[in-house]
Amino acid sequence: MTLTLCAVPMRNAEKEERGPSLISRLYWTAWLWRQSRQAVSDTRSIRHPTGGQLQELVTLAYEQTEYYRQVMQRAGLHPADIRTPAHLARFPITGRQALQERPHAFRPKSVAGPGLVIQSSGSTGQPVAVRYDEKALLQNMAASRREWKPLAHTLTKPGPLRKLSIQPPGPTRFDRIHAFCHQRVWVPANFLPKRHTMPMSTDFAQIVESMNHIRPDLLVALGSFVDAFFQQIHDRQLSFHPPRAIQYFSDHLGDRTRRLLRDVYNIPVFGTYTAVESLKLGYECEAHQGFHLHPDLCLVRIVDKAGADVPEGELGDVVITNLFNRGTLLINYRLGDLGRVTYEPCACGRTSPRLTRLEGRIDEVLEFPDGRRISAFSFLYPLFERNGAPGIRQYQAVQLASDRLEMRIVPTQDADWPSLAHRLKMALRQQLGRQIHVEMQKVAHIDPEPWGKTRRFIRLPGDSG
Ligand SMILES: [Zn+2]
Repeated sequence: MTLTLCAVPMRNAEKEERGPSLISRLYWTAWLWRQSRQAVSDTRSIRHPTGGQLQELVTLAYEQTEYYRQVMQRAGLHPADIRTPAHLARFPITGRQALQERPHAFRPKSVAGPGLVIQSSGSTGQPVAVRYDEKALLQNMAASRREWKPLAHTLTKPGPLRKLSIQPPGPTRFDRIHAFCHQRVWVPANFLPKRHTMPMSTDFAQIVESMNHIRPDLLVALGSFVDAFFQQIHDRQLSFHPPRAIQYFSDHLGDRTRRLLRDVYNIPVFGTYTAVESLKLGYECEAHQGFHLHPDLCLVRIVDKAGADVPEGELGDVVITNLFNRGTLLINYRLGDLGRVTYEPCACGRTSPRLTRLEGRIDEVLEFPDGRRISAFSFLYPLFERNGAPGIRQYQAVQLASDRLEMRIVPTQDADWPSLAHRLKMALRQQLGRQIHVEMQKVAHIDPEPWGKTRRFIRLPGDSG
């Protein structure tokens, strides 16, 4: 998944300075109200798109974008060939690099007006910029009502809700989009939780102090932050005011922290799946069985390396088609995430497809000297997540060369390091075989990347071709 750290206003500066007119605000407020009602009422039976939206998108892409016109001509495709989501199997897949190199070739010439250009943080070393039009940003806001419903159910109480957001450094894309939308619509003040924010770089003890002071109903943070923060709180036996729910975004939250929060602290956790290329992609419901997708907003396919659909439930690359944004058109775009989709109805009653487990990014891949590649998460998960990983506060795997893996471990205070290191080394050898030499490294802390995430797996460039 991609974390966005900044959003910059697009060039239509004159209009932006004046701000939207009264008539425009009235129009968008009514529109948003209608869309929000629809988004919420649809949660139990979101229809699969009939193809109308998709046809309109493909036609616009063909007629007005340089990139897709070329792609379709080369593939011998005409807009009339792509009438339903199933027809996307014929449509070529676009990688991140194409968007990175030629962002303007994805933007239809006729779509102007207010909007935002949102940039990814470049956590993959391949930052992309995606332009969103006004309607798309407000549509995204309407979808947040759908994502909020499972939380609202948990957080129902008299009086205003208090929310504490622990934020990555700098203005986040959420702040920018929020400001953009709230300039265009009226939202009653009592509709929104009372929001407090703290930078992610704040010392944990200070955050605990603030939590005890603010007594938030909801805590919102990056998944990796929630992971590190609550493991530390538990390890140090710090006393804190437990929020009634936690919402995390952007990156993965380990199962052991989930279990800790659920079984020890009795705090339900709701994940959201977002990406700079589509904004809201999925959300967790009360049943906590994967991310419900928004098939009326964004089509998701799971494909193999060659771009063919994999059978339901199998792991593959996440490929999206953004149905609502007209600022940058994205059709069959490979997101860079791995996942699997199920169409089974969820225990919560919703029938929208779910992404059942994100297995990390595509670049989280361990390569063997003989050329085999496996998801790094697949060997990290059983050792460091599934069984609660006693004695480990934080971990990071670094592939130094095709035959060398360094495991950096921050042990808990009471851990017996020599026996822990020995046990892990043996378990890793069993999983990876003898081709890869594993070195155990005890470290005091693992620094997050500049964009705020801590990476679980790093492959050093040039190590394995
Ligand atoms: Zn559900």
